[in-house]
Amino acid sequence: MTDEKKRSMFAVLASLLAARGWRWRLAPLAAALSMLAFSGGAGAKDCYFEDCGGSNNSACWLGEGVRWCQYSVINGTNCRYHQVNVYNHTGYGAVNTAWQQWNYPPVGPANSVFLKTDGINNYNHDIDYDWAYYGYTGWWGYATWSSAGGCFTRGSGHVRLNRTYIEGNYNRQLITANHETGHEIGLGHVCYCTPGAPVMIPCLNCGNSNVGSCDAQGAAAIYPNCQ
Ligand SMILES: [Zn+2]
Repeated sequence: MTDEKKRSMFAVLASLLAARGWRWRLAPLAAALSMLAFSGGAGAKDCYFEDCGGSNNSACWLGEGVRWCQYSVINGTNCRYHQVNVYNHTGYGAVNTAWQQWNYPPVGPANSVFLKTDGINNYNHDIDYDWAYYGYTGWWGYATWSSAGGCFTRGSGHVRLNRTYIEGNYNRQLITANHETGHEIGLGHVCYCTPGAPVMIPCLNCGNSNVGSCDAQGAAAIYPNCQ
């Protein structure tokens, strides 16, 4: 394995550790693990060193215990949908693709979350997506939010995409947008590598950029379809 390849893997590993910003700041251990990631080898079981290591690392999906609680009812049915107002302040089309993939997972069950933009260029959205050359921070994407009573606080979601690492690489943009959006709708990390592995794996050495079956199952559990 070339040094270049190692660097890219380590960057991913650290990036996804840091992506859950709230936990990153709360857990000094995460910093130590990040150092480990930068000095250790890369491979599927690197996931073991992430914050999802331990007893839950082989789960299909894990919830963060928070969801977007607002909903509307589809006329003439009992079906609810949870519309989340989003805005893409970046130049990455992958963000819009990520919304589409979570709304309509390519594989796996349907759900009732509905990420939709009002097209208004301000920072009052439930989730605003920014990009910048944040530098060699160790993270590709970074998701933050606040919540109360198990519900995301409306307008509190913020995703930062680090152009330093993902500029010019669509797959990196897509998995980062998918992964951070997964956090923003209530999904945490899982850790295993199989074909079609979830985007909620906190390292990218499994090679999947699209919302997978387990991701879809998680979204459907948090936002049951036509509940
Ligand atoms: Zn993450």
